[in-house]
Amino acid sequence: MQKLQGIPVSAGVAIGEALVLDAEGFRIPERFVSRDAVMAELQRLERAMQAAAEEIARNRDTVTRELGPKYGAIFAAHLELLQDAKLREDLEKYIRQEHYSAEYAVSRAFRRYAQVFERLENTYLAERASDIYDIEKRLLRHLLGRRREQLSDLSSPVLVLAHNLTPSETANLDRRFVRGFVTEVGGPGSHTAIVAAALEIPAVVGTGPFLTEVSGGDLVIIDGYNGLVILHPDEETLARYQHEAEQARSLAVRLQRLRDLPAQTADGVRIELMGNIEFPYEVEHCLERGADGIGLYRTEFLYLGCDREPDEETHFQAYAQVVRAMGDRPVVIRTLDLGADKVPCLQRTEEERNPFLGLRSIRLALRHIPMFRTQLRAILRASALGNVRVMFPLISTLLELRQAKMILADVMEDLAEHAIPFNRQIPVGMMVEVPSAVMLIDRFVEEVDFLSIGTNDLIQYTLAVDRTNKDMIGLYNPTDPAVLKLIAMTVEAARRKEVPVNLCGQMSSSPIYTMLLLGLGLRQLSVAPSAIPEIKQVCRSVTIPECQAVAQRALSMDNARDIRSYLKEELRKYVPELAD
Ligand code: PEP
Ligand code: MG
Repeated sequence: MQKLQGIPVSAGVAIGEALVLDAEGFRIPERFVSRDAVMAELQRLERAMQAAAEEIARNRDTVTRELGPKYGAIFAAHLELLQDAKLREDLEKYIRQEHYSAEYAVSRAFRRYAQVFERLENTYLAERASDIYDIEKRLLRHLLGRRREQLSDLSSPVLVLAHNLTPSETANLDRRFVRGFVTEVGGPGSHTAIVAAALEIPAVVGTGPFLTEVSGGDLVIIDGYNGLVILHPDEETLARYQHEAEQARSLAVRLQRLRDLPAQTADGVRIELMGNIEFPYEVEHCLERGADGIGLYRTEFLYLGCDREPDEETHFQAYAQVVRAMGDRPVVIRTLDLGADKVPCLQRTEEERNPFLGLRSIRLALRHIPMFRTQLRAILRASALGNVRVMFPLISTLLELRQAKMILADVMEDLAEHAIPFNRQIPVGMMVEVPSAVMLIDRFVEEVDFLSIGTNDLIQYTLAVDRTNKDMIGLYNPTDPAVLKLIAMTVEAARRKEVPVNLCGQMSSSPIYTMLLLGLGLRQLSVAPSAIPEIKQVCRSVTIPECQAVAQRALSMDNARDIRSYLKEELRKYVPELAD
């Protein structure tokens, strides 16, 4: 049994067989072959080894010709490794004696060799492991050929273990079969993490390297509560987690009873509890849990994973589905927030050195005005169907906000000219997720109908810490006093001007922060749909003066860790069943 610590990004426990994807997205299967298929498997291996050897020899010759023998020698060394008698003997033994498939034998043997190199103390030699992986990949390419994309054609439940998954790869996971995932890289605020919550499957990111320790088909436990991944669990651990999964299910059933009750504090203050969605189907998840509306619809997911820019009709149909399902409840449609870690395949522009500080979100929209107008037309058309609000992301200057509003007004004129129905009074809001917006919040509130605080980015830009970097987890803290102060300033400015303010960053989905947020004055929270019952339970268990006392105490403390432990203690006091 082996335990790995990562970052929990989507709650729950998943137990099942591993599907392993290496750094290039190759699936490493565990496939045993029957006794009578052994000969055919040896022949497949032989053909793949020959093809790989010919390819390496061709590379060696080309590189020697163009750059000289010193460089060609890299490939000569690869060829020598590939043709090593001991390696061949190991591979054949795996197939003959263990009945491994050729792919599995290759992955097992090469990983074993690579691990020996990785353990060497000499850095130069340890890095030679990458040569071994390179040869492994080449062989797998020949063996797997077009079967590389097997993630899209699953037929039984799996837990995906991968080096990395982009937000769009995550969005395209087959929800019928993928029961959880783990990635070696990735941070707490990455959009891969956010999509995991949307899929409602347990997920852990940022474990560091471990894929060499595991093979397809191995039994794995993903503990999405504590960020643990357990490889080859023993009987006792397995039983413990099975019990825990059972308890979580019964808590969920108990909380389900809250569905039709309002998110109202014990002293009668009504909290508006809305859902964050990335895909239209999630509207059902919100309704099932009794959401008061959609507080954040991340529309950029319409662009991810498709090879063409979505046209107006595609936008409209998606929005119409959500708005109709919500009836007269509010639906906040956020305009596209592409860029940084959300890069659509259709728009690979120049690589940016600091993508989170670059052309993302509203900045990208304002550079691609026809694309932006297409989306705005669709949002406005959808506004004729229900209670739609439009929101601009990542506003960092007043001019940006004004420019976005001007384009919106222009699109309205266009629609009016063609007698296309829309709501001219559509509320227009902005996300508060850059410290500059908080600095000037008094001026911003004069120009918007509502605010929504995006703490995922606000934390990142306040503390200068990349939300997707697992090594910065110690700094990426929702409870950092500086972050709390910015939230408090925003809520206060909104209160003075009587502009509604919501908080839709991931921190709103965790019960630990609910008392703090209510105490800071928030009366609207937008959370991952799966978190609605728990957050509602907290709201119903506390009074506003209790929350205010908690917030005041938290604001007086000077570091994130102490504040978090304090909030945990308070949660244990008021809602013990949610504290562990
Ligand atoms: C945020 O930044 O908190 C937010 C809600 O937006 P996103 O996570 O999509 O950047
Ligand atoms: Mg954001």
